[in-house]
Amino acid sequence: MTKKGAWRIEVFGRVRPPGSNVQIKARSDCSEYYDIEYPNVINIRAPPRGSADSESHHRYKFDHMFDAQTKQEEVFNRLCRPSIENVLEGYNATIFAYGQTGSGKTYSMTGGDGGYDERGVMPRALETLFMEMKKNTEWNSEMWVSYMQLYLEKGYDLLGKPARDSQGLEALPRVHLLDDEDGALHCKNLSSHRADDIEDALEFLWTGDMNRTTASTSQNNESSRSHCILTIHIRQSRVGSDKVRISKLNFVDLAGSERVAKTGADGVILQQAKYINSSLYYLVQVIDALAKRAKMPRSQRDEVHIPYRNSMMTSILRDSLGGNCRTSMLAAIAVEPGCLWESVSSCNFANRVGEIENMTSINEQMDPKLLIKRLKAENRALREEVQLLKEGEGASAARVLTPDDEELVQQRVDSYIGKGVGDKGTLDVGSWLKLQYALTLMRQRILSDHGNASPPAHHSPPSNTDNVAGPGAPVVRGATDAELDKLRALLQQRDAEIEVLTSMVSEGGGGMPSGGMAVNNSGSTGGNGRGGFDYGIPLVSSDTRVVNSDQAQQLTRDSGGGRKDRARATRPAPVAGDPLSLCSVDPKTLTEADLSSDTESKNSIFEKFFHGYYRSERMASDKANLNKVTSSAKTRASALRRLKNESSELKAMLQEGDDPEVRQRLGDVRALYAEEREQLASLKIEHDALKGTLDRQMSELKTDFQRWYSAARKVIEASGHRRASEARHSSQRSSLSSSREASRERERSRHSSHRSRDSHRPSTGHSDTDADVEAFYKARDQMKRTSPSRGAYS
Ligand code: ADP
Ligand code: MG
Repeated sequence: MTKKGAWRIEVFGRVRPPGSNVQIKARSDCSEYYDIEYPNVINIRAPPRGSADSESHHRYKFDHMFDAQTKQEEVFNRLCRPSIENVLEGYNATIFAYGQTGSGKTYSMTGGDGGYDERGVMPRALETLFMEMKKNTEWNSEMWVSYMQLYLEKGYDLLGKPARDSQGLEALPRVHLLDDEDGALHCKNLSSHRADDIEDALEFLWTGDMNRTTASTSQNNESSRSHCILTIHIRQSRVGSDKVRISKLNFVDLAGSERVAKTGADGVILQQAKYINSSLYYLVQVIDALAKRAKMPRSQRDEVHIPYRNSMMTSILRDSLGGNCRTSMLAAIAVEPGCLWESVSSCNFANRVGEIENMTSINEQMDPKLLIKRLKAENRALREEVQLLKEGEGASAARVLTPDDEELVQQRVDSYIGKGVGDKGTLDVGSWLKLQYALTLMRQRILSDHGNASPPAHHSPPSNTDNVAGPGAPVVRGATDAELDKLRALLQQRDAEIEVLTSMVSEGGGGMPSGGMAVNNSGSTGGNGRGGFDYGIPLVSSDTRVVNSDQAQQLTRDSGGGRKDRARATRPAPVAGDPLSLCSVDPKTLTEADLSSDTESKNSIFEKFFHGYYRSERMASDKANLNKVTSSAKTRASALRRLKNESSELKAMLQEGDDPEVRQRLGDVRALYAEEREQLASLKIEHDALKGTLDRQMSELKTDFQRWYSAARKVIEASGHRRASEARHSSQRSSLSSSREASRERERSRHSSHRSRDSHRPSTGHSDTDADVEAFYKARDQMKRTSPSRGAYS
């Protein structure tokens, strides 16, 4: 480990847009209760809580305040990007979100309703880490992911294999804390998964989220009472050295703080809070002790006891709070009047957290395996040198380097020269003979730069020094056939690489048909490769939306936080356990014919569903984003091809004769090529992440549609039965007023019409009743024809 340095925990505040949480009654006057002094102060005017109370003013300073309009991207850039930089430098980092239930913790950490722009800091961090790791050529990096949930002092592995015989959280493997001999704590039974690319990483995140949601709905435990911790482990090894850095980035989405906050604010002893959510209660205690410690002289700080061990969560966060970790906190703030006192509490808590000082250091060490490898190589070189010295002066003449040795020396010389003038790197080739060859190569380079090239005297001519084909490679002169073959092979390899990138990005656009829809009746694998239905995303414009009146009210309500635009673009989130809320189409407006199983009806009912689906606009916008990314990737790929061709031409020109202008242009082309390549690599990651999001949305769309369809069907069946029974009663009522004979005749006719659905039904003489009776028969016949056992949907 390197030298330790102090790190004050950074605190950020974020105001949730008033009205964005459908569970909390929207108010138009929210802006009267708070204001933000950009960039880092919030003033809260909390309304009186009792008749004897008066309005209470509070002013809080953060490291940065995000207002209600702040987009996820900005939150990521300010709150999370520095943590990513820290982690890649080898520091540990933690970001934790604190606030009452519904204040926007999960929205900030994980994201909104699945739309790409609304993804939270966790998926963005994974993307950025991959981009940065890919760019960094000095370090080789690997990533592992683990995800756990803490509920009532028990830990569960959200990425563990669920047991078959139990449900919800209890089906997931339990995680226990264990002390090792050095007193360090370990999470026993918590799985870690290697993520080789962004798709793997996002898959783990979504699997964990899925388990989180399933657990909270199936067990009816409040997700607001559990904490979730996503840990990204990064291992970096320095190229050509035995140094390794092992760091981690934790994301902690804490349980809702309301109970702790309420009891605290009311001055009630925290016993109740202790029972309800002991870990948050102990978190407050830990923070208080740490804040107190931070105020003491350094020499006395060790005397302050920090009660980490009282709860599992504080034990796990021990490093993040007061230990070796660069921690940041996000206080989620709700500004509806009923939430303000909780928000005051969260801000108080944040202020205390902001006083805590951690001692952090880069987690760098020697990798024993690499160290052994290096020492063995050094030994070999030393033995060789001893041998050479023993053999005396004539040794170099007597010994010849093998082609492998020559290639190794060439590579080292290239890398030594490539480091530039300012770099103090050493040229370590391993033996005296190799050093001689290296010097010969370098002399040849110098001469060739002066247009006076000649091959090294004692060795075969240096094989091509152009070990990187394409514009990034040095100019080659007088190459042999073998060298040219090698060059061609490398060029082909580059071509193939670009080809892979290009075809990968073009798959994204092709896999998702735009507009219209197709139902794969055969059940074979559709375009998204997930089997079953293959739904296209009909592009929905805001004026074609189907919105019921309640939702329309909700959408047009002035949120009081200047979020009208947002509200217009957002449909209410579905209510958990109510599949009908997935779509704004009122099932009562549908008929049996709509739910018929023929292809045409299926297409049309799906289209109706999709138009009213709460995520339709987001999906359409994500798809548009994907198309945009795909098309810029294509543009970049063709720019790359052009640059490569230009560089080949320039090289050919240089082979015919030196020209400073051509040489200059070649240098520019090289630089442009490197830049374009990097951009294309970043676009690939963005593309994969977007495509992953859309794939997931598609599969959820399918499940959501099936859930909604079954529920809508039940509604229609129930209304069919109701109408039928009303029809019967009304028919009986009208029969009383007729003669007995006429009544018997009508009954006979009605029974006979049951037997034959096409037969003519007798009139009751009452038009409404006749219509109801007719509707009943029609519905019953439809139901028979599309019974669940035969229907496509069940
Ligand atoms: P918490 O995790 O703190 O309980 P959530 O993150 O689940 O709260 O947020 C509650 C609701 O408010 C969700 O429907 C969420 O989509 C919405 N919401 C929260 N923050 C924002 C925001 N910044 N912009 C838009 N909607 C938000
Ligand atoms: Mg939450």
